[in-house]
Amino acid sequence: MTKAVVIGAGMAGLTCAAYLAKAGCSVEVYEQSEVVGGVTRTMSQGGFSWDIGPLVVEALGPKEAGGAVLRELGCADRVGLVPGDRSVSFPDFQVFRPPIYSGPYWRKDRLKELFPDQAPGIDRFYRLLDSVTDLVALDRKSSVTDGPASFVLKLAMLMKFLPIKKYEKWSAELLMGHFFTDPKLIAIFTAILADLVVMPSEFIGLGIPYFNMECFTDSRIPSEGVLGLAPRISSSFVQGGVKNLSGPIAERVGEMGGIVFTRSPVKKIITEGDRVRGVELADKRIVQADLVLVSGGARECFFSLIGRDRLPAEFAAKIDDVPLMESVFMVQLGLTVDPIRHQERTLVYYYNTYDIQGSVREIREGHYHEGKDGFLIFINSMHSDTMAPKGMHSVTIYTVAPNKIEGGWGGRRAEMADKLLIEAERIIPGLRRHTKVMLTLTPDDFKRIAHTPQHHSFGGLCPIMGKTGVPHSTPYRGLWFIGSQSESGGGVTTQILSARKVVKKIRKER
Ligand SMILES: Cc1cc2nc3c(=O)[nH]c(=O)nc-3n(C[C@H](O)[C@H](O)[C@H](O)COP(=O)(O)OP(=O)(O)OC[C@H]3O[C@@H](n4cnc5c(N)ncnc54)[C@H](O)[C@@H]3O)c2cc1C
Repeated sequence: MTKAVVIGAGMAGLTCAAYLAKAGCSVEVYEQSEVVGGVTRTMSQGGFSWDIGPLVVEALGPKEAGGAVLRELGCADRVGLVPGDRSVSFPDFQVFRPPIYSGPYWRKDRLKELFPDQAPGIDRFYRLLDSVTDLVALDRKSSVTDGPASFVLKLAMLMKFLPIKKYEKWSAELLMGHFFTDPKLIAIFTAILADLVVMPSEFIGLGIPYFNMECFTDSRIPSEGVLGLAPRISSSFVQGGVKNLSGPIAERVGEMGGIVFTRSPVKKIITEGDRVRGVELADKRIVQADLVLVSGGARECFFSLIGRDRLPAEFAAKIDDVPLMESVFMVQLGLTVDPIRHQERTLVYYYNTYDIQGSVREIREGHYHEGKDGFLIFINSMHSDTMAPKGMHSVTIYTVAPNKIEGGWGGRRAEMADKLLIEAERIIPGLRRHTKVMLTLTPDDFKRIAHTPQHHSFGGLCPIMGKTGVPHSTPYRGLWFIGSQSESGGGVTTQILSARKVVKKIRKER
């Protein structure tokens, strides 16, 4: 029987472990933290619960690609999804879904109302947005389809792609300038890049329609089929918090014979010649294995667990070249008042600047905006009332933040929480007065949770044009790199879909 060791029980590690166990391997997962899930975890205190990582998950519906993975792994019926979307607010206007559903193109109409002189560009951009939405639907479906049906999907993708191929190598800055002249309208579509800590000039143009698909703005839009082949993707929150997504996958690993060990850091990956042989744990125990799948920070996994001197120079250079995002500063509140009176949607991104390029540059240079450039407010208890005591609410407020600030995060935690809450009180007055429980997570805390002591990148690989993550396949036979800093990139659904692909590849090679 093939023995597999998986390092890390985040979404990537757990999904790979479940597929390996399903394929009949003997699987052991080693996780340094006391709980499973990686950043896909929900923390609790005093009757309140908050998600600390992913908030919105895509394509997990029953007819969709992520849903197919959950079904294949036998846990689809254990994961509850609540249709979920995000709204955006800028100093001069808000783009919130209307209380009564008014069709799939209400946002287009709203943008034309806000920017009448940009109407022709808006119409042209929406044609591109529709094409990209269809392409994403076909691509997701194709990632879980084998055999001749996959060929048909690839053909359909080609048909959809050819008319927009001319934009393939354009940056987001170029693409936006092609459709619009108003910087405020451009900011609506590019604002999400501030969260990814990537500048519009270095981000792939076609990624803009992807991150702005209508399903993210209004979850009521039906996920109609594309050419009768694939449903358009949906977006959701996880009922009861995202631990209810990672938890059931971990449970299935156990039910299929695998073992997940928590509080078990791996200190070393053991190799012999060009083969992986197993791992050494922090307590010096050696676990032999035919396969080792490692997730986490690329530099930590390869330079600390193996050693730069034991890697081909070209591969080490590839790891050095992987661009990373910055981290986040997060405040979790247990509130005794109802925030819904002031924020009618579960998840709202508040942007206070239209200069996305400048804002990203600042954070890259290590200047923290202290919440002034923007933040998001997520009311966990609005989609799941079990996440707060009756009549109270659990609220997550966070913003992107550099890994290091002057004076260190440790000494400035309380000051930075207060500053972020002062900004958030412009939206929900009296937040601090009505707080029963407060927890803060600094970039240092995220480094510990994700086990990336050198640098925490909240979304993993930073999506810069021309740069890629570390390949799944490594110079050592039997050693595979998975997770958000690998070639798959970040995101929950990306992890579970690429886990399926990686395990399929491993089985083919063995
Ligand atoms: C604040 C935040 C918001 C996000 N929002 C979204 C969102 O809305 N939608 C979305 O799709 N995605 C979102 N993401 C991204 C998404 O959550 C991640 O890309 C994804 O969960 C990464 O999964 P992973 O398994 O690669 O990594 P992780 O979740 O980081 O898991 C890696 C695990 O490996 C363990 N580990 C590492 N090294 C070792 C070792 N040597 N020994 C033992 N264990 C080890 C770590 O402890 C960790 O548990 C967000 C992320 C964050 C942080």
